[in-house]
Amino acid sequence: MRQRNKPWAKDKLMQHPQYVILEPIQHKGKWAEVFEEDQPLHIEIGTGKGRFITGMAKANPHINYIGIELAESVIVTALDKLIEEELPNLKLMNANAKNLAEYFDKGDVDRVYLNFSDPWPKTRHEKRRLTFKSFLDVYKSILVDKGEIHFKTDNQGLFEYSLTSFSEYGLLLTYVSLDLHNSDYEGNIMTEYEEKFSGRGSRIYRSEVRYQ
Ligand code: SAM
Repeated sequence: MRQRNKPWAKDKLMQHPQYVILEPIQHKGKWAEVFEEDQPLHIEIGTGKGRFITGMAKANPHINYIGIELAESVIVTALDKLIEEELPNLKLMNANAKNLAEYFDKGDVDRVYLNFSDPWPKTRHEKRRLTFKSFLDVYKSILVDKGEIHFKTDNQGLFEYSLTSFSEYGLLLTYVSLDLHNSDYEGNIMTEYEEKFSGRGSRIYRSEVRYQ
């Protein structure tokens, strides 16, 4: 994601502890305490500017959500949306996916969403892809038994790579669409990237997989 450097972003995140999880390690094993309701927790990794996660939180008040994003300069835009919407079931976290096992215990998370993850097309960068096996280990270590990953992308190469990676890991493929916007899937909430690329005619791929 092209991002303008926003030197003030970190301060802005720090000024909104009611929306931004500043010390995630403190909530390990007891995430319900950061929300008004004790209900299932779904996280989006690489949440970007937050269109998807705010839409999901609005549509599903019976689920708690955390949008996790590495780039401070990007997640501040998600924070603006949350300040406007005041959703009690959504929090944001400025963190790297590779560290999530430090913040969540096994079983803390019910579902992981990956949307338009960076494709890292060069083979030597495979380990950076969020569907590489080391990341699948991380998700397994924080998800409930039979926890799910829902993944969508416009990038055919990343999609094919990810289906293979899921399958080699032993994940069960429970849903696949090679053209989401022309499928009968209902209730799709678009991300910023999805809106941009589908608007230019790109096909959107989507899959759901489950740990066994
Ligand atoms: N999901 C959004 C969308 O569809 O509009 C953003 C997609 S953008 C291509 C990928 C995002 O993932 C970027 O904002 C990037 O900073 C974030 N990201 C990449 N690697 C990450 C990691 N290891 N942990 C957390 N976020 C990451």
